[in-house]
Amino acid sequence: MQRKLDKITQAGCKFTFELGIGIYGPRANAALAASWQSIINSHWSTDIVCASNQNRCPVTMKATVSAYPSKNWSYEISESNAVYVEDAGYRDISAPLYKHWAKDADDLTVTHETGHLMGLFDLYIGKYSLPGFENDIMANYYSDPGPTQYSGALASILFNNKKGCGCCFGAQTPKSAAADAASDDSGSSNGQTSPTDDSSEYA
Ligand SMILES: [Zn+2]
Repeated sequence: MQRKLDKITQAGCKFTFELGIGIYGPRANAALAASWQSIINSHWSTDIVCASNQNRCPVTMKATVSAYPSKNWSYEISESNAVYVEDAGYRDISAPLYKHWAKDADDLTVTHETGHLMGLFDLYIGKYSLPGFENDIMANYYSDPGPTQYSGALASILFNNKKGCGCCFGAQTPKSAAADAASDDSGSSNGQTSPTDDSSEYA
């Protein structure tokens, strides 16, 4: 019922995100669930490009989308994210307690709305994207000069979940590794550290 990324696992600089979505209402069906699952996993499985050194931290998105056409209430959906399927032409909304997507939502809309499920906010006001974020998936992708960027969005998700990619900053510090190991229920880290050659990049 809440918007929630279920789990982030980390192996060195590689990340796997897990996300459960239940689509419901009379327009929900297995074919639509399969289509949305494919769109989400293909678009969000990409590299975080480190601003500091252009290293890359690959993210694999493993969303699972299931259809519940006989259910009409979000509280009946056991997945962390319940999305009601609206008729064609509906303008998608992904508020914390109200997530309604059109059955004909285009690929980038499904991808953008999934960003909200993972806790991201819009980077546009009306038709105008915020300066510096014109290509971001969370900005206005209809006016996106392209190619659409996911790196900043994925990095924000890591930050919001108290994870970091050591490849962007040289080695992870013992402190952050310990913090990861002691962190909450939002996922697990195996505590691996990245290659330990250059701690001076923390400057
Ligand atoms: Zn949005």
